[in-house]
Amino acid sequence: MLKQIQTAVALIYPPRCLGCGGLVESDFGLCGSCWRETPFIGGTICDGCGLPVLGANDGFRLECDDCMAHPRVWSRGRAALLYRDQARALILALKHGDRIDIAKPAAAWMVRASAALLDDAPLIAPVPLHWTRLLKRRYNQSALLARELARQTGLEYCVDMLQRRRRTASLDGKTRAQRFAALGDAISANTRHRLLMQGRVILLVDDVMTSGATLTACSDACLQGGAADVRVVTLARVTKQ
Ligand SMILES: [Zn+2]
Ligand SMILES: [Zn+2]
Repeated sequence: MLKQIQTAVALIYPPRCLGCGGLVESDFGLCGSCWRETPFIGGTICDGCGLPVLGANDGFRLECDDCMAHPRVWSRGRAALLYRDQARALILALKHGDRIDIAKPAAAWMVRASAALLDDAPLIAPVPLHWTRLLKRRYNQSALLARELARQTGLEYCVDMLQRRRRTASLDGKTRAQRFAALGDAISANTRHRLLMQGRVILLVDDVMTSGATLTACSDACLQGGAADVRVVTLARVTKQ
């Protein structure tokens, strides 16, 4: 029955490329040419943030310059894409353009990127939006990604594990120091889920990592709330170049 419904839905809504809207054969999201223009991360990567790094993986922990200069509060991080070109367009569409259909294939890319972080049954939690922003935007793109990631991996998911205590100004265009200062103690663990968090590995999910200020504030909140370990996965990582 479900199969028939799926077939019927596929006939009415044939899968379309997330990038150009052209018809595609599978649900994986992109046509061949948009796929080639989307900067998927591969090869040797930084264990802190998922950026590609030079050199071969010899089994030791590798870190990019940024993670070496600013040691991370979380233990390991991954990203599916570099934040540029087609990836940037997709993320802006997901964030501001009501293109929530992007979440499902994007989460599949994140599952692939974060495969090494999924042991110990991590609890999946999104970076929170302040409720006033949620009202305005109607959805939290990080929560959409986190929910899909949980669905595709079968891992436990908690939408309000973390909360924004106060509204912070947009971090766009701010320096690294300004970003960290703006966040301060703005994010805290939800006391309602205190027991759930005790001794757990938390996998934090966000759409984009720039300086890591928001993920740092979230990781601090998890560790203060009793989490044993925090890992992070983002859809895209901003590069300096
Ligand atoms: Zn396309
Ligand atoms: Zn790094």
